[in-house]
Amino acid sequence: MGSFPIATTEFLNPLDHEQFRKQAHLVVDFLADYYSNVEKYPVCSQVKPGFLTETLPDSPPTQPQPIESILQEVQKHIIPGITHWQSPNFFGYFPSSLSTASFLGEMLLTGFDIVGFNWLASPAATELEIIVMEWLLKLLQLPKLFSFSSDGGGVMHSTTCESFVCTLVAAREKKLSQIENEKGETLGKLVVYCSDQTHCSLQKASQIVGISPNNVRAIPTTKSMNFQLCPDALSRAIEADVRAGLVPLYLCLTVGTTQTTAADPIGILCEVAKQFNIWCHVDAAYAGNACILPEFRHFLDGIEDANSFSFNAHKWLLTSLGCCCLWVKDRTDLTKSLSTDPEYLKNKATNSKQVVDYKDWQITLSRRFLSMKLWMVMKSYGVLGLREFIRRHVKMAKHFEALLLIDKRFEVVVPRNFAIVCFRIVPLSESRDEENGNRLTKRLLESLNGTGKVYMTHAVVENIYVIRVAIGGTLTEEKHVDMLWDMVQEHANTLLAC
Ligand code: PLP
Repeated sequence: MGSFPIATTEFLNPLDHEQFRKQAHLVVDFLADYYSNVEKYPVCSQVKPGFLTETLPDSPPTQPQPIESILQEVQKHIIPGITHWQSPNFFGYFPSSLSTASFLGEMLLTGFDIVGFNWLASPAATELEIIVMEWLLKLLQLPKLFSFSSDGGGVMHSTTCESFVCTLVAAREKKLSQIENEKGETLGKLVVYCSDQTHCSLQKASQIVGISPNNVRAIPTTKSMNFQLCPDALSRAIEADVRAGLVPLYLCLTVGTTQTTAADPIGILCEVAKQFNIWCHVDAAYAGNACILPEFRHFLDGIEDANSFSFNAHKWLLTSLGCCCLWVKDRTDLTKSLSTDPEYLKNKATNSKQVVDYKDWQITLSRRFLSMKLWMVMKSYGVLGLREFIRRHVKMAKHFEALLLIDKRFEVVVPRNFAIVCFRIVPLSESRDEENGNRLTKRLLESLNGTGKVYMTHAVVENIYVIRVAIGGTLTEEKHVDMLWDMVQEHANTLLAC
């Protein structure tokens, strides 16, 4: 039996290797069954608030519990409260594409459980991260300027929000060091620029680094410009701020916006940033993954003029959550603003200046061995496998888009760039008002999600309510997309007949 001894007086070794072997096998079997049955669960959890607090005891167990009964509890009580992001019928938000290789990498990194704040704390963790970041740099054809072989380098953060915070701090410290005498005064004058399509985590990150929400300019975009940030509008906003005595600090461009996957033109916008000595960060959280394909790489044209670039491998590169890859062109920008040097961490390797101490590239001191999982993924699937994985989703998205385009009741609201299709019900001809289209589209989404068989999310752009179909699940196949299409038609038939 894979259970802990019950008597409290008995010595309990929480890392007994034989118990570990038996119990881990049970968990692996449990998860294998979960993946084989995942399609049977409602994709979006249907529980009511408080469902778990009303069910589970309000104090921890006094006696150790056997793993078998714990797993039974997971099955009975926890799984109903899970929204199944790994379901092949999950089409919401952006994908979270898990893989066996990433899972096994997580097992290894958790198994070693190192705390790799600096090189000495686990040299392999730091060096594997450098290797993986350089592999990815090549795969994305990022300029050498971002490489450790130049003045740049890459680091793994857990989320894009963390990369925003760190690059904002780097930009802030750089700017303040240039205007040494008026530091205190300048802090309140720093301005961040983005578009109204930029992810809200930039707003949060700006607040964290002390930039007032009043000094974050979300420049309006339009449907007619495919929701791209317009260079002239950016220039005008910056010039107005300069005239008002404010200090432009940071520009965030997005390749693959959250709402509609719009892609800002990097080259021309970086030129504006350069004129005003603004730090330019390119956030390609979702779409950066697609840029490993030669046919999508053009979305990163101009990246050589940015200061930093990040994407989330945990969105679409077969890697589990918590893997944002960030590169900077000048690594000292990060280390100057984020370094700490306490006595208890001093060591010869750090003193030699021949090693990277990643604690100086991020918010926290302690860090997980994240490169292990991405290395496992890259080794296990190879460049060809990774490219094929993304191409398959793009093909399915094109297929879904083609089905929509031949049905006059629907409109594809923005051009599909990657594997997200944004559509709506066209307002009924006698009314033609957007409100009518919005109401119908919202009801269609609610009705589809209400079945529990599929799950999608929405966006509102220029007052148009759109359904986003995000195709990118590891288990999603063409048959799932076809089933979704059948359901969309069936529910639209019912809705439009009323
Ligand atoms: N940027 C974009 C374009 C996103 O779509 C997201 C999340 O979906 C983020 C940033 C925030 O990412 P994270 O949750 O890793 O901070």
